[in-house]
Amino acid sequence: MNNRAVLMGTLSALGLGFGLSIAARAQAQASPLAPYIRENAPVLVLDHVTVIDGTGAAPQADMRIVVEHGKIAAVEKASAGGAMPAGAKVLDLTGKTVIPGLVGMHEHLFYSEPTSSSLRGLVGGELVDTAPRLYLAAGVTTARTTGSIEPYTDLNIKKDIDAGRAPGPKLDVTGPYLEGNPPLIPQMHILTGPEDARRMVDYWVGEGVTSWKAYMDISPEDLKAAIAEVHARGEKITGHLCSVGFTEAADMGIDDLEHGISVDTEFTPGRKEGECPANGAEYLAEHVAMDSAPVRSMIHELVQRHVAVTSTLAVFESIEPGHPPMAFMLRERDAMPPTVWSGVLTARSMIQEQAANSYRPALMKKEMQFEREFVAAGGLLIAGCDPTGYGAVLPGFGDQRNLELLVDAGFTPVEAIRIATLNGATYLGKEASIGSIAAGKDADMVVLEGNPAEKIENVEKVETVFKDGVGYDSAKLIESVRGMVGLR
Ligand SMILES: [Zn+2]
Repeated sequence: MNNRAVLMGTLSALGLGFGLSIAARAQAQASPLAPYIRENAPVLVLDHVTVIDGTGAAPQADMRIVVEHGKIAAVEKASAGGAMPAGAKVLDLTGKTVIPGLVGMHEHLFYSEPTSSSLRGLVGGELVDTAPRLYLAAGVTTARTTGSIEPYTDLNIKKDIDAGRAPGPKLDVTGPYLEGNPPLIPQMHILTGPEDARRMVDYWVGEGVTSWKAYMDISPEDLKAAIAEVHARGEKITGHLCSVGFTEAADMGIDDLEHGISVDTEFTPGRKEGECPANGAEYLAEHVAMDSAPVRSMIHELVQRHVAVTSTLAVFESIEPGHPPMAFMLRERDAMPPTVWSGVLTARSMIQEQAANSYRPALMKKEMQFEREFVAAGGLLIAGCDPTGYGAVLPGFGDQRNLELLVDAGFTPVEAIRIATLNGATYLGKEASIGSIAAGKDADMVVLEGNPAEKIENVEKVETVFKDGVGYDSAKLIESVRGMVGLR
């Protein structure tokens, strides 16, 4: 949005300037999505394209994908394809690759605001306008918000997106965090007991929330009650846990665990039941072997109980000295106002100065090994960018970086793409309609310049993002948030 549009929006919000607000309304009626739509033909053929279908299968060259009224009607060899469907618009995508729309599983609609030292944790500033655009621009067509600080805002933007009033992915809105005392984020409700946990779940399910997340200081009793209530309402619950270990949470019936072993405190010596130890991650980095019997047994428990793990390597990388790579940071720079950008650079160099004392590189290696072993044991690994920390990982950009880091961790590019697409869809129970490129599914696909199976960094080269068969121009969506991310 340009400055004039911003001004018009502000004036009409204040009830000033009738002429301007009428103009703004007329503009809105002309579809607010129109400036970003590149393809909108009811019948469309993506011809001569390389397909990475999201199942982990090898890329297939020279394919034809037929899209009819928002759904994938056929996926076939271009050479074997017969006559084009009547009235089809045909796109020759020679040299390009198409992957399924990413199913992002840790995708907040907020950003960490700068805070003073008197605050224990962080404050989330809602990115109601910019985050959905960046997710869609990066190829994320479905996103779980994985912990909300403004649940009404998240529910309202979901309605706007679904109604075609705002660009963005299909949202699985997560409820406000289920947290104990004291909360890391002051915007969180502090649970007072199991009855309060049940009451909170019931209320927000009624308001339209479709998934749940327990947080670091929740008590074991409250977590148990929350899990039972969420399941009774037919939904799923994940956790970024600390006060409860992974094995214990799996036994309680949790569905998913955020971040991986880096936040599992069950191996910390002297840990007190129901308390979050301060040094869990450091101890793990220095003393716990990923092939040790206790870790194997935890993995076994998760797999047996069908507990998924959400990989968030991009946000972990941001607190590793000398990371993320400057090339990645520079891709994000123009989206931020200069003050936000310089704050991010300052935080990055402070981490760099502490490099000699950092346990983070060792922890990152262990996290990567854990994720490989979890998958090798049959576990469902899903992925998301978690745009929090000190702000070095932005929505969408971070999801692409996560794919690159999964390849660094030892997954093949097609496996990494499966983790970020079909696996997330499977967790959501939506694998019949999204997550891979197959006839009958929603036409949620990303057209890339170049093949990510050859070089995973090609996932950054997004040209068009299709959601329900409508193709959005990635560059225009990114341009529309220039200088705004971190403000809204
Ligand atoms: Zn998070």
